[in-house]
Amino acid sequence: MVDDLLLLIISSPSGAGKTTLTRDLLVQFPDLTFSVSHTTRKPRANEQDGKDYHFIDRARFDALVAADAFVEWAEVHGNCYGTSAEEIERAKRDQRRGIVFDIDYQGARQIKAVRPDAVSVFVLPPSMDALKERLRGRASDDEATIERRFSNARREIEHYGLFDYVLVNDQLEQAKLRIRSIVVAERVRRPRMARQAEALLRQNRTLG
Ligand code: ADP
Ligand code: 5GP
Repeated sequence: MVDDLLLLIISSPSGAGKTTLTRDLLVQFPDLTFSVSHTTRKPRANEQDGKDYHFIDRARFDALVAADAFVEWAEVHGNCYGTSAEEIERAKRDQRRGIVFDIDYQGARQIKAVRPDAVSVFVLPPSMDALKERLRGRASDDEATIERRFSNARREIEHYGLFDYVLVNDQLEQAKLRIRSIVVAERVRRPRMARQAEALLRQNRTLG
């Protein structure tokens, strides 16, 4: 079954640019919404609770897991992250055409297992040196955090085979065009257009 609501998963090793690309998609396609994850990670200086993440402590996170509130969750770089079922319900209630998940490969695998129609994109950096530079350039994490994220990058890239699309974020404008193209193409997949085609078939068949 392909739902009308496009479930779009974007993953990458930390620093490859998925937040940058996700922000661009949300500007380009105002009928998409962002899935706000829950996390036990501490907020960065520029992050807002309820907008970038729902920042919660470990006890609250464990309680949500026990209550079966998450469609997927995983431990990433030493913190817990999860997508609540409520985020998808919110997108439906607000009559959005799609929802974007910025989640890691473990989460992508879990969502694909229950929703094979979800579309997944893996973003690669142009090189490992460029990845290191971008992690440092973000200037929001300390050196130990950067080291940890960089040393996890190889394991994350090893999972590129789980994804439907793989793109390299080298020239930013080109990467933006590629990811926008994925959204445009996925929206006209036949199952997502079936409702519209069927509506035409129900309309008046006579000329006069
Ligand atoms: P992620 O969400 O994957 O961790 P971000 O989107 O936060 O990555 O990007 C990491 C850093 O790299 C940010 O400072 C961002 O501005 C920068 N960046 C993103 N894409 C590019 C690109 N194509 N070229 C150069 N720098 C980039
Ligand atoms: P960051 O701490 O840089 O915001 O995110 C670290 C990693 O956690 C990224 O790979 C990001 O995609 C992933 N992540 C964020 N939210 C979720 C989530 O809800 N579930 C999973 N599985 N991963 C997430």
